Amino acid sequence: MCKVSLSAMTKEELKAFAEARGWPAFRAKQIFSWLHQKRAAAFAEMTNLPRAMQEELERACRIDFPAIARKQVSKDGTVKYLFRLFDENSVESVVMKYSYGYTICVSSQVGCRMGCRFCASTQGGLVRSLNAGEIAGQVYAAQKDIGERISHIVMMGMGEPFDNYDEVRKFLAIISDDEGLNIGMRNISLSTCGVIPGIERLAKEHLGLTLSVSLHAPNDTLRSGMMPINLKYPVADLMAACRAYQKETGRRVSFEYSMVQGVNDSDACAVQLSRLMKGMGAHVNLIPINPVDGSPYSSADAARIAAFQKKLALLGVNATIRRRLGADISAACGQLRKEVQTEMKKHP
Ligand code: SAH
Repeated sequence: MCKVSLSAMTKEELKAFAEARGWPAFRAKQIFSWLHQKRAAAFAEMTNLPRAMQEELERACRIDFPAIARKQVSKDGTVKYLFRLFDENSVESVVMKYSYGYTICVSSQVGCRMGCRFCASTQGGLVRSLNAGEIAGQVYAAQKDIGERISHIVMMGMGEPFDNYDEVRKFLAIISDDEGLNIGMRNISLSTCGVIPGIERLAKEHLGLTLSVSLHAPNDTLRSGMMPINLKYPVADLMAACRAYQKETGRRVSFEYSMVQGVNDSDACAVQLSRLMKGMGAHVNLIPINPVDGSPYSSADAARIAAFQKKLALLGVNATIRRRLGADISAACGQLRKEVQTEMKKHP
């Protein structure tokens, strides 16, 4: 029999699960707390549940929080983890220290099917989506390992969150639960490559988190060359969805723009970008592209990025250059998993 993942259930789902078995509702609360507050790794640890209940859970369910398989610490203090999942798949997370606290970048899928040309996560395609507990478990394991509270989360690791909307939504409910880690939505950012139905669905939920959109290019020709998703959801439609999101939620969208030498880093691109941003009060994050094997792109140099930022400022667009953390530990999306896979092929 295929076991269900108990660690992937929200409190509401646990209540329904308990009810279906004729258990009182407080059992659901106890189980939630064992999993998401006390991080029990086994049902036998749930000592305030009757033995028969523990055994029934053992038979029907699994707890599938990820385990740390590898860890790398950068000179700048950034920590990168490779997590092993219950089925031997792996995903990455990165913990960064900022003045306001620790931020973790979590993965939402093993691999990705979006095909962005500059991204290591997508090179082997999508293997599978993570469940909500596997996303939350990255935060739990990293927090335990560093021994400090993680206060901020960015969903910018491997995978496209809107290609796994339901589990991502459940993860958000679990992680912000006051009987879980209780991380406020204001401390959570979610990044999408531009899946419009996901943006529309999120807008209706009024969660109060920050939506980031990976724009990376200001017109369809360039963007479709870098990101195949643009063929399905072109720039004009994407920007209309972002404006609608802002209107619906009252929250500003932020944009990521990874700078590739000779591709999207010209002053003409800055002008086009400023037109797209007109009247949005949006924030643009300029990111030096992190070169990955098998990708033709190299990063624009620091002077060009600074000139691009200046041009945007003159055009009234607020842009910052993202500090590059963890460059010495291949902290860009999907790089560590790929390295380990290559090593395993050489030394199985
Ligand atoms: N699928 C989501 C979230 C994961 S990627 C999205 O596309 O937004 C997180 C961010 O890193 C995205 O902006 C993505 O475009 C960017 N990214 C991926 N690979 C990169 C690389 N090699 N260099 C710079 N940015 C990269």
